[in-house]
Amino acid sequence: MEENTVKKKKMKGISIKTLNYIMILVAVVLYIFILRSIFGISDKYQALVDSTEDYINCEKDGALVNQGSDILTENVRLFVVTGEKEHMDAYFKEAYEDKKRDEALEALEQFHPGDEVHQYMALAVDVSNELMNREFYAMRLVAEANQMDIDSLPEQIQNVSLSAQDRELDVEDKLEKAEDMVFGVEYKSAKTRIQDNINYSLTTILNETRNEQIASAESLKHEIEKQRLLISILVVMNIIVFVIISILIVKPLKVYINCIKENKMLETVGAYEFKYLALTYNNIYEINAANEVMLRNKAEKDALTGLLNRGAFDSLRAGLQANACALALLLIDVDKFKNINDTYGHDVGDKVLKKVANVLNMHFRSNDFIARIGGDEFSVIMMDIKNISKDTIEEKVKDMNRVLQNGTDGLPKITLSVGVAFSENGFHKELYKMADTALYKVKENGRCGCAFYEE
Ligand code: GH3
Ligand code: MG
Repeated sequence: MEENTVKKKKMKGISIKTLNYIMILVAVVLYIFILRSIFGISDKYQALVDSTEDYINCEKDGALVNQGSDILTENVRLFVVTGEKEHMDAYFKEAYEDKKRDEALEALEQFHPGDEVHQYMALAVDVSNELMNREFYAMRLVAEANQMDIDSLPEQIQNVSLSAQDRELDVEDKLEKAEDMVFGVEYKSAKTRIQDNINYSLTTILNETRNEQIASAESLKHEIEKQRLLISILVVMNIIVFVIISILIVKPLKVYINCIKENKMLETVGAYEFKYLALTYNNIYEINAANEVMLRNKAEKDALTGLLNRGAFDSLRAGLQANACALALLLIDVDKFKNINDTYGHDVGDKVLKKVANVLNMHFRSNDFIARIGGDEFSVIMMDIKNISKDTIEEKVKDMNRVLQNGTDGLPKITLSVGVAFSENGFHKELYKMADTALYKVKENGRCGCAFYEE
């Protein structure tokens, strides 16, 4: 057992436990990277969406500034041309209530505080605001030409102070000057500046968006490639796991099951744990096998002489009953054995019985069955007796008695009486009795010899 423990300690092999830890570690690291990459991809995608949305919002803000400025232009021009107050009202509603330009600028400032996009848009609104002074002036000229009640007009119009020269102009000239102020080259160039600044702002955001989109698309691509690589590694790892499982676990299980079915010792294959199991199983197997041999010996062998015992002799007899073979049965009894016991003691008696067993072993073939069937009674079943004659058996008995009477071992001298019966058809029911009758005859005739059963 100690030797086996040493064997186990020296045993080498890949441990499933260690392998399992390594696999779990590698899988966890891979999954962490894959998860990070998945979140990375959704971030990159969100950035792409955000930059597009930002561009759309800026475009809307630009359009709103444009729209606000155009509403002012349209209404100041209509007022100048028609003199109808409703256009002035619409103008002021846009300038001080709806305030589309301010609203757009505020919205833009939220996402682009102080950057170029915002600066250009603010410049456009500034130019538009500057233009309003000119528009107020033109509206004042028209109001005066049309003799409107100045006090009823918005205070921005009331606050306009016409130059002395303009105050002197007649109605026609005032109207003409007003028209020139909002339709003329200067007005148009200011409007162009507003539009240009809005365009600069939009071009800036367009470039920014494009750059952001290129960068986002680039890192999205990079992230997807990374994920592809990680998933490939995962797939390869899974394949490796399957291979390892089949080599280290499935195959050894198959081998072990076959060994168990064939009642063999287990081959030490597979992972460390399987090898350990195999060695443990093999130890138990060896111990069991040894125990089995021991038990069989106990059941079959006579403890004193090592010959077959009575039980084995009876089984043999039963087995040979069905067997139609030729055989000879010898019943052998030690003569006057009681005297040996009485004279020399039981221990010496035992030694004599052992000596008889040795002599029998020396005088019969290995395929004959020699048994101790009683205290000083032995039996030999001679098989394959084609070449065995009565003389041969008589010779054997004579020689055995010669050996037992001429010993130099200090044991008391003894003789044997032997009764023999032959059979052509196995160990039939009468055979034992026949041999016993022959033995009785020898005992009757003075012992130390051999007799054959005769009808
Ligand atoms: P016979 O020639 O008529 O056979 O005379 P015998 O004295 O041999 O008579 P029997 O065969 O009946 O005696 C057998 C004796 O063997 C009786 C018993 O005390 C003795 N014996 C039986 N078993 C053992 C044993 O295991 N050891 C020893 N020492 N003696 C045994
Ligand atoms: Mg006897």
